[in-house]
Amino acid sequence: MQNNKKGNIFIISAASGTGKTTLVSRLLKNNSDLRVSVSHTTRQPREGEQHGVHYHFVPKEEFESLIAQKAFLEHADVFGNYYGTSIAGVNRLTEQGFDVILEIDVQGAEQVRNILPEASSIFILPPSFEILAGRLKGRATDSEEVIATRLAKARHEIEQSVHFDYVVVNDDLNTAEADLLHIIKAGRLKKSAQQGFITNLLENS
Ligand code: ADP
Ligand code: 5GP
Repeated sequence: MQNNKKGNIFIISAASGTGKTTLVSRLLKNNSDLRVSVSHTTRQPREGEQHGVHYHFVPKEEFESLIAQKAFLEHADVFGNYYGTSIAGVNRLTEQGFDVILEIDVQGAEQVRNILPEASSIFILPPSFEILAGRLKGRATDSEEVIATRLAKARHEIEQSVHFDYVVVNDDLNTAEADLLHIIKAGRLKKSAQQGFITNLLENS
């Protein structure tokens, strides 16, 4: 983290079961200058999920009131539940200089790309649909019916990968993690991210 420097935003999307949560938690563990934005959702917590850590779990009425207050950078209905990214939450982190990962679906990614074109967007792919199905079943957190819905949606989500800046295949976890880190490092060197430094350099010349 660099002093007085606003953090950058990285959008990470993938079809459910690809391994996005696994990869993001590895990145967070190994990089102290990275944070993930904790989304709001109306879905029920899964076993082991904590309020304020994995999500802010809120009732539908509260979520709708937050939409009306324009509290979200983006929000979407995913699998019948609302999910949204808090503007205040993201700003708090970027103003402290942290680079922030938005782990969001393809609809949310499109909204953020329109509002913040300087954000880097990354789509993670499974090596194959067979492996994706195996990962969803292996995770054992969802019913057969939920898994079938998620697989059916995966094809449509993967088609949206063309709109992202980068595509990473999550075959070997270590390789995918290293690929993501390279993208994050390159994002920190974008001219939009370096604008403060350039201005400062010229003003003090
Ligand atoms: P997502 O957040 O994209 O829905 P998860 O991170 O929950 O996906 O991963 C789904 C399942 O696949 C988990 O059981 C996880 O341990 C497993 N998984 C993730 N990445 C890999 C990988 N590269 N190789 C094998 N299994 C993986
Ligand atoms: P899950 O219920 O498995 O945690 O997440 C389901 C989907 O919702 C995933 O694709 C996840 O990336 C997405 N998601 C999580 N938080 C947000 C958010 O704040 N906004 C949007 N648009 N999608 C989100």
